[in-house]
Amino acid sequence: MKLTEADVIAILHDDGRTEAEVAAQYGVQQNTINRIRTGTRCASIAPHVPRWFKKIRATSAGDVVAQRSVTDPATGCVNWTGALQSQGYGLFSFRGRMMLAHRAAYEAANGPIPDGLLLMHACDNPRCCNPAHLTPGTDQDNKADCVAKGRQSKGEAHSAAIKAALQRRSTMYRKEATI
Ligand SMILES: [Zn+2]
Repeated sequence: MKLTEADVIAILHDDGRTEAEVAAQYGVQQNTINRIRTGTRCASIAPHVPRWFKKIRATSAGDVVAQRSVTDPATGCVNWTGALQSQGYGLFSFRGRMMLAHRAAYEAANGPIPDGLLLMHACDNPRCCNPAHLTPGTDQDNKADCVAKGRQSKGEAHSAAIKAALQRRSTMYRKEATI
């Protein structure tokens, strides 16, 4: 049987099922599902389908970010050009999962972000996806960072807090660089 374009799209947006389960649903061999997921053409896929699906399949979440971002030479920020969520972070769907662009970019460069950690932007630019501008930190670190950048009320953003937060971050960067 030949799979239609709609079938291929459904398979690509996989919902966590195994290849055997998906193959059973479409009545094709498991190998066919594997070929679709890895972007390899095969005879049991409708001839009009491939090309674009290979392009989709060849990408990882990190590649999606790379393709849809533009580097600002002045700042070094790698600015996401796609949709933004309410806080201004880049947002996209990849293999049926919603992902934040800056987190996907960081993970592509550095591996998984430890559970419970946020990523802080050194550039204070939420759409930036440059891993070099991102540092993992706790919620507490993030709040200190906000104070340092004056995003909190002015009363809290006094010079001692700014100095402390900046000092703390430069220490973190030094640590980061030596890992
Ligand atoms: Zn940046």
